[in-house]
Amino acid sequence: MKQAFMLVGFLIPFLSSNSQVKDVRNYVSYPVYTGRDLGLTYSAARSSFRIWAPTAEKVQLRLYAEGIGGEPLQEKEMKKDKDGTWSITLTGDQQGRFYAFSALIDGQWMAEVPDPYAKATGANGKRAMVIDLSSTNPQGWEHDGSPALPQATDAVIYELHVRDASIDAHSGIGQKGKFLGLAEKGTVNAAGLSTGLDHLKEMGVTHIHLLPFFDYNSIDETNPGKKYNWGYDPLNYNVPEGSYATDPYNGATRIKEFKQLVKALHENGMKVVMDVVYNHTGLTDNSNFNQLVPGYYYRQTADGKLSNATACGNETASERAMMRKFIIESMAYWVKEYHIDGFRVDLMGVHDITTMNLASRELNRIKPGILLYGEGWTAGSSPLPDSVRALKKNVSKLEKIAVFSDDIRDGVKGSVFEHEDKGFVSGKPGVEESVKFGIVASCPHPQVDYTKVNYSKSPYARQPFQTVTYAECHDNHTLWDKLAISAKDATEEQRKQMHKLALSIVLTSQGIPFLHAGTEFLRSKKGVENSYESPDSINAIEWDQKTMHKDVVDYVKGLITLRKAHPAFRMTSAAAIAANLHFLKTEPGLIVYTLNGSAVKDQWKKILVCFNGNAEQKTWPLQGVWQMAVKNNEFQKGSVKGELILVPNSCTILFQ
Ligand code: CA
Repeated sequence: MKQAFMLVGFLIPFLSSNSQVKDVRNYVSYPVYTGRDLGLTYSAARSSFRIWAPTAEKVQLRLYAEGIGGEPLQEKEMKKDKDGTWSITLTGDQQGRFYAFSALIDGQWMAEVPDPYAKATGANGKRAMVIDLSSTNPQGWEHDGSPALPQATDAVIYELHVRDASIDAHSGIGQKGKFLGLAEKGTVNAAGLSTGLDHLKEMGVTHIHLLPFFDYNSIDETNPGKKYNWGYDPLNYNVPEGSYATDPYNGATRIKEFKQLVKALHENGMKVVMDVVYNHTGLTDNSNFNQLVPGYYYRQTADGKLSNATACGNETASERAMMRKFIIESMAYWVKEYHIDGFRVDLMGVHDITTMNLASRELNRIKPGILLYGEGWTAGSSPLPDSVRALKKNVSKLEKIAVFSDDIRDGVKGSVFEHEDKGFVSGKPGVEESVKFGIVASCPHPQVDYTKVNYSKSPYARQPFQTVTYAECHDNHTLWDKLAISAKDATEEQRKQMHKLALSIVLTSQGIPFLHAGTEFLRSKKGVENSYESPDSINAIEWDQKTMHKDVVDYVKGLITLRKAHPAFRMTSAAAIAANLHFLKTEPGLIVYTLNGSAVKDQWKKILVCFNGNAEQKTWPLQGVWQMAVKNNEFQKGSVKGELILVPNSCTILFQ
């Protein structure tokens, strides 16, 4: 409630000058419904509907035989019920019926919409569908369980778009572009190398982070091949996207098929992270929220207009009771119904800290150790004060939630905003402290000079699990494309070494490593910086690239195996990192550090990690005899002593 108060306090000075702003104050005074039965409550004997529409004068429930088109079979007046809700119960088995609501507000009938709590819809999410969820469970669903993973820092996240995973002509996958495509086993590319699910399993990653797969607005589900979208334009938050289903018309199909995918990933040792976008809605004036409770779910600026911290036309108001409730219940629903193991929160900095913490507590109660992380920033200014928003700099106030580190991302490869800018791996001197900041997972460390870090001038993380370490994600150029643009004078072989060095840094740093799908075989989006609606020819994972760059695939696989085998690379506390990670050398383009393996029960007593980002060879004087793990971006065996040669743009990892 503190946040709502602060919002009101922030806007009160403007109330007298603008009548529209008065609504902002009124939103806080709207009745709050605390029951957990919003939406549909189904049984074979009856279906009960409850929606929250406190400003409505009347609300109609309309029943249809189809999800799109046709006339209503029935129109039912709903009963005004407690705390701003409207309710109605229909007797008999209503399963398969489609429905929508229309509210009379200020004497005007609003557009017909599904309620925000709808769990199933017809094609394109226009109408909700009465669903018996137990009928959507695949065989063995009651025994479906998530693989165990003791610590958040044990995670290796792999970010993937459902359609990209299989749509390539050479994916060897039958159900291209579908949930089921990613659940197929035994698929191979032209050279017989594994693709899709088997490839993910082969890589050894622990979490598959799927780009938005809730129902989004931009794709015509009845003609899904026509357009492409990442899906950051939410329509129905609690419904899987229909274009990924084999039948978008029957609301049960997408639910069942997505559960089949979750089950397949779990059976193959991987957890599932859902990319959620509660910060804005794809539609604005015509959104489901706005047709039922105009204005309430969104923040407004001082002049009464919609604020836009998302750069998508609106931003939701998580600090308002019913938006907060919606976010928390929606996430809890995905965990309970779909067995989701984690969430990546889009533009988390738009949300208030209290909402994120309440969500974290609720989700940890349902699934202890659930993985939560988000973008600790916004895409524009928000009327909600910085101090109460879930920004990167406030991560210490967040409970069991991590943020992406743009510090190491850009330290490694150069600014994502300045295309020509180089980073550590491409030979830019002076960014070593930004890389070191990432190596220690944004935690306090006596040997990091925070004044020289690119973005954060102090360690924002209190513990390593609060930092997600990455070199690239779906946004901006892929790492390979960024290197092609910024290091254009380098040969392809040199850029390959830079790429391997970047992934070496990501996978050996403390914190939680994060990989963008296909980076293990140098994924390119052909220079397209923002491919959110680019065709498959830009976005598809090209599975024959796996054959072309098998050496990089094997190297990345080796790094993941190394990380999983050695707790020294995933220490569980900032104190352990400060005590057991010691930088031996920091000079332009060169970082050398040791890890005290014995102290963290690693089978390697001492580990030496050397990163040479320079275009020139460097040497490092070894004390004593060391065993090789990685030498100059290759996994090697054998011992080494004396002067160690560090070739350009390379990683070397030795142990005793
Ligand atoms: Ca959709």
